[in-house]
Amino acid sequence: MNIATPISHACCDHSFEPEHLHATVSQLFKPSGVDGVYGRTGAYESVIEALAALISSHRPQDAEVFRFAPVMPRASLEKQGYLNSFPQLIGAVSTLTGSDRDISKSAAKYENGGDWTEDLKPSDLVLAPAACYPIYPIAAGRGIVPDEGYVFDVAADCFRHEPSRHVDRFQSFRMREYVRIGTPQQIQDFREPWVERAKGIADAIGLSYIVEVANDPFFGRVGTMMANQQREDALKFELLVPVRSAQSPTACMSFNYHKEHFGEVWGLHNAAGQVLHTGCVAFGMDRLAVALFVTHGAKIADWPAGVRQALRL
Ligand code: ATP
Ligand code: ZN
Repeated sequence: MNIATPISHACCDHSFEPEHLHATVSQLFKPSGVDGVYGRTGAYESVIEALAALISSHRPQDAEVFRFAPVMPRASLEKQGYLNSFPQLIGAVSTLTGSDRDISKSAAKYENGGDWTEDLKPSDLVLAPAACYPIYPIAAGRGIVPDEGYVFDVAADCFRHEPSRHVDRFQSFRMREYVRIGTPQQIQDFREPWVERAKGIADAIGLSYIVEVANDPFFGRVGTMMANQQREDALKFELLVPVRSAQSPTACMSFNYHKEHFGEVWGLHNAAGQVLHTGCVAFGMDRLAVALFVTHGAKIADWPAGVRQALRL
């Protein structure tokens, strides 16, 4: 039998970050042994809950609430073109299959010093890389979209394969979104005021920020062209907060216009037969929480009274 070797925690230690960051985050997170995946303290989770409540207080009227699993159908991700755009970020679920005998043979490989993972087979699930993806097929499944369109409030634990030792980049993190489905005008009327509303939320919790046009991390050479086009068309804005440094601030919220992409993929259309557009406002819950602790300190009791009041902490 193998003797377990102690797991080195050096891979997820934040000591290379500036001293103040290191000191703050080491009080909030316990290393798991894998970069970008942490155990979170009760104090940290109380801030996540407070942020969720604050965001809920801005929930658009008539928004329908859905909470999604951290996994979603692999077929959905394939259908929406994720393999072309962000293959580098995918995490897929694989399992041991076959008879009990097959499974115990595979499992025994570990004890015998072999590689049990070579027997894993891809399942029909992937880890959800964004909270809004499961909502489009749900909306499309209802048939013709009413003229007023839809607004949804969604959230999920998300996974992106971007291991990093930086305190603002996780592999597993919480995302909350408000999603709009409608005509181009309806998406614009939704997104623009949200940029202002989001600034108000950041002001209320004492975060400094800039809002800038941005791009998604599209993969490869074609991806660079897609990213440039996305910027040129101003399809994505981010609210960036100085977390690690003022020079490279961290995207804590994003305001996205997908144009007809999801409408075409899922067949979202109105009674006139128009393909509908979609947009979403995404809140990176873990990044917002980290930003709060880095800005106001590791002890919530010492945070400015106005910030604690806004968060009811
Ligand atoms: P970035 O440019 O920083 O990689 P993104 O453009 O890929 O972010 P979105 O796809 O817009 O991010 O995701 C919505 C929000 O989810 C982001 O604004 C951010 O707050 C959060 N987020 C995205 N990736 C991560 C991550 N790896 N760790 C923590 N939060 C994340
Ligand atoms: Zn989204």
